Amino acid sequence: MRSTLAATAAAPAALAASNTAVQQGQRPIVISSGNGLPATTRAMEVMAGGGDVMDAVIEGVNIVERDPDDHSVGYGGLPNEDGVVELDSSVMYGPTHRAGAVASLQGVKTPSRVAQMVMNRTDHVLLVGEGARRFAKAHGFKIEELLTDDARREWLKWKETHSDRDDRLAPTHDGQAAGDPSYLFTYGTINCNALDQNGNLAGVTTTSGLSYKIPGRVGDSPLIGCGLYVDNEVGAAGSTGRGEAVIINNGSFSVVEHMRQGMEPQAACLAVLQRIVDHNKLARLQKEDGRPDFNVSFYAINKAGQYGAASVWSGMEFAVSDDRGHRKEKGAYLFKRKQRENQE
Ligand code: ASP
Repeated sequence: MRSTLAATAAAPAALAASNTAVQQGQRPIVISSGNGLPATTRAMEVMAGGGDVMDAVIEGVNIVERDPDDHSVGYGGLPNEDGVVELDSSVMYGPTHRAGAVASLQGVKTPSRVAQMVMNRTDHVLLVGEGARRFAKAHGFKIEELLTDDARREWLKWKETHSDRDDRLAPTHDGQAAGDPSYLFTYGTINCNALDQNGNLAGVTTTSGLSYKIPGRVGDSPLIGCGLYVDNEVGAAGSTGRGEAVIINNGSFSVVEHMRQGMEPQAACLAVLQRIVDHNKLARLQKEDGRPDFNVSFYAINKAGQYGAASVWSGMEFAVSDDRGHRKEKGAYLFKRKQRENQE
């Protein structure tokens, strides 16, 4: 079955029929969220060395997953409200149109590799919680403590300052008041998508999710069509930001579908962001003027090698690696953020 699909995906006739003609000798390109420059750089190296596009993006994001200083992903990620790090990740491979994902996974620094294992070694797409952990262990992944001292301290500050109606007292010396917004929930994720020289696409999204979340909360990152979607005939897209908003709008799938209709990647990202805004009806998720009180970003690449990224609010940067080098570019946006406004 898999070889049949692969053969279909590689057939030039099928590719030529798509709205973005693909050619032999496609120029490889990798894009990622703003924290992903090491990932795009590594992914390009892997592809240049003859590595597969799926392995390339996963090796890329592994750098960020293993980085204890990135508090939004993998090892060192901010924990749930109980102080336990729970990770979400998904991968999707264009040539076979297969995907794998894990959610609420504890103890493994590189959830993207476990997601790849789900794709390659099971007939399923998504494993969660204890089952995902046992699956990882069976496949030889090391089970370790992922809560670093830094992340633990941040979590403790949150516990001590998020309410003045409990018995926890914030340290007096740092002047933090209860409810200090700098200790409220934070988002953060890495999404990385690539197109190789044969016109094949792959993507990965990996995260520790919303900080201090309710244990078991799953965001958009491990949900195919939400935090990630790849169609080898069209393009790849992924997201970061408020996962709940992306889930209820099937964000990444929608971006790819807009590209299928002929929109360029940046326009497709903006169109789906606008839909998210239009669907955002709850006052508690709106500013006084009705605009969203949160941010979402999409990153997209199409089969022709065009790419783009956009956010609800201005100020987002994303990483790009191609034959012009490795760099950060500014994303498009729907609304200009006032100076010093913190949205994400
Ligand atoms: N989208 C992720 C989630 O909701 C978090 C983020 O990207 O910041 O879990």
